[in-house]
Amino acid sequence: MASDLKEFDVVVVGGGMVGAALAAALGQAGRSVAVVEARLPPAFRAEDDYDLRVSAVNRASQHLLERVGTWPGIIERRASAYRCMRVWDACSAGEIEFDAVEMGEPDLGHIVENRVIQEALLERLEQLDSVRLLAPFGVETLELGERGVCVGLSDGRELQARLVVGADGARSRIRELAGMQRSARDYGQTAIVATVTTEVPHESTAWQRFLPTGPLAFLPLGDGRSSIVWSATGTEAERLLGLDDADFRHALARAADLRLGRITACSKRAGFPLVGGQSYPYVRARVALIGDAAHSIHPLAGQGVNLGFMDAAELAGVLDSSFRDPGSMLVLRRYERARRGENETMMRLMEGFRLLFGSQLPLLPWVRGRGMALTGTVQPLKRHLMAHALGTAGRRPELATPFVDPVR
Ligand SMILES: Cc1cc2nc3c(=O)[nH]c(=O)nc-3n(C[C@H](O)[C@H](O)[C@H](O)COP(=O)(O)OP(=O)(O)OC[C@H]3O[C@@H](n4cnc5c(N)ncnc54)[C@H](O)[C@@H]3O)c2cc1C
Repeated sequence: MASDLKEFDVVVVGGGMVGAALAAALGQAGRSVAVVEARLPPAFRAEDDYDLRVSAVNRASQHLLERVGTWPGIIERRASAYRCMRVWDACSAGEIEFDAVEMGEPDLGHIVENRVIQEALLERLEQLDSVRLLAPFGVETLELGERGVCVGLSDGRELQARLVVGADGARSRIRELAGMQRSARDYGQTAIVATVTTEVPHESTAWQRFLPTGPLAFLPLGDGRSSIVWSATGTEAERLLGLDDADFRHALARAADLRLGRITACSKRAGFPLVGGQSYPYVRARVALIGDAAHSIHPLAGQGVNLGFMDAAELAGVLDSSFRDPGSMLVLRRYERARRGENETMMRLMEGFRLLFGSQLPLLPWVRGRGMALTGTVQPLKRHLMAHALGTAGRRPELATPFVDPVR
């Protein structure tokens, strides 16, 4: 770890999954970095039950986590590979299955607890001499100057840097202090999360059913249970959260079309109101936003943190390939140009899916059914969709590509 420095190349505010990944990439490249994190996760212990917050980590994100030396730390703790994905529509015969084998891949991704990813990344930061983790401290003030920034912490300390990165989530304080705007989109839905035991084994498959009130996903965990994300309209979610255990399990089994049989056990439940949005702009002189601070989307395709990881990979790559001042607009605009289009495309796609599956217009179930049947039979189209889910379609930041050891 760096000694008690007060001057850095970059201050990253938010040591969550995305901010910590950026700091690891920058630290590995020799940049001096301070990471300010308001709340550290409780230490992971193998005997702990699964946390309710999990993410489906795709292949591109896995490559980034491998390149920053964190993937082994994640696997050592706890991660569950899933090999298939089965998606079906509650209002039509539409159904489609994606299998890793069709892509010549060992799996389609991993279900990992958010706290596991964060802890493994923070452990990596501890090993990097040029990175200093400051926690638990919040950021209170931000002064933007021509040549640098001054970040004021909750304990009164001040950090100088040439660039500050807001990786502090959807309610970003850095975005607010820097006077950057955000368009907010209330989806009118709440995502209910819980860990459940199903009568029928999940077969390392992610199951997703589109209901008129929102999508329901079962994400397979390593111990045979599943982590659910059940998005429902506000009033329906409130009703579901208020049910007693037996009634909730019964409602869940029926909502899943009994594909996984009865729900024989369910953990405590939590609800997350779903609000999407995007920042305008992502950058200004000496400030960049990444992850949920820059954009947040509906979790229906499990893409939020994966997009954030690509922001981190892109920004680290842009800073690494330039000899210029890292806070200059010439450098930062390259990051925004590369990421905004990608993120907007994914946001529009998710919005399209949400409206397509949420609408009750008379012909739409038929259209969905036909569309899913067709997609299942047209291999190039199916492979294209799978490549998108894996994060391997189109251009990717170099840090999100497989690492090839030059010595081998
Ligand atoms: C129910 C649900 C399911 C989801 N499932 C998936 C999925 O399967 N796959 C997927 O890719 N995405 C998923 N997402 C989205 C994903 O959780 C987010 O995109 C991701 O957490 C964003 O990471 P982040 O690091 O940008 O922000 P956060 O996770 O919000 O981290 C921000 C960090 O900044 C810190 N912080 C905040 N303010 C300050 C401050 N002022 N000073 C210092 N530190 C501060 C916080 O303590 C936190 O550690 C899901 C979201 C929901 C709601």
